[in-house]
Amino acid sequence: MQGGLDGRSRNMRMTFVALTMVALWVPVMAQAQWKTPWYYEGKSGTEHWASLDPDYATCGNGKAQSPIDIRATQKAELPPLRFIDKSAPLKYLVNNGRTIRVDYHAPGSGDWLIVGDLRYQLTQFHFHRPSEEYVQGRPYDMALHLMYETSDGKVAGVTVFLKSGRANATLQKLWDHMPQVAGNAQEIPGIEINPAGLLPQDTAYYTYTGSLSAPPCTEDVTWYVLKTPMEISAEQIKAFARLYPHDVRPLQPLNGRVVKESE
Ligand code: ZN
Repeated sequence: MQGGLDGRSRNMRMTFVALTMVALWVPVMAQAQWKTPWYYEGKSGTEHWASLDPDYATCGNGKAQSPIDIRATQKAELPPLRFIDKSAPLKYLVNNGRTIRVDYHAPGSGDWLIVGDLRYQLTQFHFHRPSEEYVQGRPYDMALHLMYETSDGKVAGVTVFLKSGRANATLQKLWDHMPQVAGNAQEIPGIEINPAGLLPQDTAYYTYTGSLSAPPCTEDVTWYVLKTPMEISAEQIKAFARLYPHDVRPLQPLNGRVVKESE
């Protein structure tokens, strides 16, 4: 038979195109930053990350991966962590389908971490429940990961453990505007956030060399895990858990790495 599609096939084809567009468009909106989606559970879950995309191979064959259980440590004279933070409009609050994250777009975020002669700029912070890192075999209720980068590409992560106690006012500002569905970053007019409100006074820390704890699992990340936890309320933990009850990668082998502990 020659000629065009009959009415029924054309309709089916239109429906197919429309469905395909919806199917493609929704995930692209939600996952703009990863070309291959990954998750914590299921077919794209943690044990499958390395095979999802050749760019994620390090998740499987890396020898210095995160997170870890911090057990034996070596006390050392380490440089103090100096955090320089300022209050700034909340411009990039995102529910990315895996966690709640606040992005900082360089240049000019004005938030810094200075360690010895390294000067890192804050690029984003996000949350895990429970904590990804363990201490002596146990996780905390939640953890905050603040990610930093130097101008020449050195990456550092700071872990702040969060435990059930008094409510945290800075966190509450984020939670009040927490997007309930995954999507693009949102600007929240009239709301200012200072990351300092999420940091403990005492910044004594453990440090080790690890990786991004999510694909592409890039190594050579210097982690600073603060020993002093921050309190957040049980309600605040519950509010996050309603969206993301378990957004953690399993513990990774140390493979001879040494964890240092500031004195
Ligand atoms: Zn993280």
